Amino acid sequence: MDYHKQFIVEPGGKVQLGKIDPAFSGPHGSHEDAMPHIAKFVARMDQLQFLLYADAGQSLLVVLQALDAGGKDGVVRHLFSGMNPQGTTSVCFKQPSKEEAAHDFLWRAHQKAPAKGEVVIFNRSHYEDVLVVRVHNLVPESVWSKRYKLINDFEKMLTANGTRILKFYLHISPEEQLARFKERLDDPARHWKISESDYSERELWPKYIEAFEAAMEQTATEHAPWFVIPSNHKWFRNLAISQIVAHALEEMNLKLPPTQVDIEDIRRKYHKAESEEKA
Ligand code: AMP
Ligand code: MG
Repeated sequence: MDYHKQFIVEPGGKVQLGKIDPAFSGPHGSHEDAMPHIAKFVARMDQLQFLLYADAGQSLLVVLQALDAGGKDGVVRHLFSGMNPQGTTSVCFKQPSKEEAAHDFLWRAHQKAPAKGEVVIFNRSHYEDVLVVRVHNLVPESVWSKRYKLINDFEKMLTANGTRILKFYLHISPEEQLARFKERLDDPARHWKISESDYSERELWPKYIEAFEAAMEQTATEHAPWFVIPSNHKWFRNLAISQIVAHALEEMNLKLPPTQVDIEDIRRKYHKAESEEKA
């Protein structure tokens, strides 16, 4: 199964989320069945992140967007926790601070974009400025409607600077969201995840879907593709995303950098030190 090919949003194409089954789980019947595959992709991601860091010529930006309880935190925890913290960062985008709101909407995203050698995961992102902002009319349409092009230009600029961008929409059904809200309610250890707005936002589901479809249609580009990931099954979501990320890293043609020293000379110094140590 090539999940890149299966779930990519074709640039210029239409997105109809209603036609994509959020409960899709491919040929795998169960989590157990998929587990060895996920483990393999995650291990490969970790190896390649090591090379990306050593190589320090390119970077990776992973954008995660979803409705509440869509599984963004789970993706970070399950797929990226094996990467070396030296070189990997996850950034949560909340309601803009006073300082952030006083700048252009891309300011805070640009500051957190990966430096060469780094992997950065955006848990929510600059896309909130055409999602929640559009749904709640936080700025007039004349303002948010211009942002799609600004986002494309921004992402093009990052790409030109060596950043590989992968954007994931975690697609869940309203029923699955409610089931996850129940889990949160029933488990005191998850109460901290509940927010007042969960249920009022849920009522705006169709408006959010409309905003997501528009965002993906207008910002799915060759250089910064969107993927719609069926995410009712957490394990399937993890399988598809880990495969897509691992393959993207493979394609970056990462190599260990050439050594800066004369290895033969260093070897001689080592042997000299070794014989002195023995003497
Ligand atoms: P959570 O991810 O559950 O911690 O919630 C973060 C909240 O911040 C969500 O309700 C987002 O919609 C909101 N948020 C993130 N970015 C923006 C933004 N640019 N404008 C307004 N609200 C935002
Ligand atoms: Mg929330």
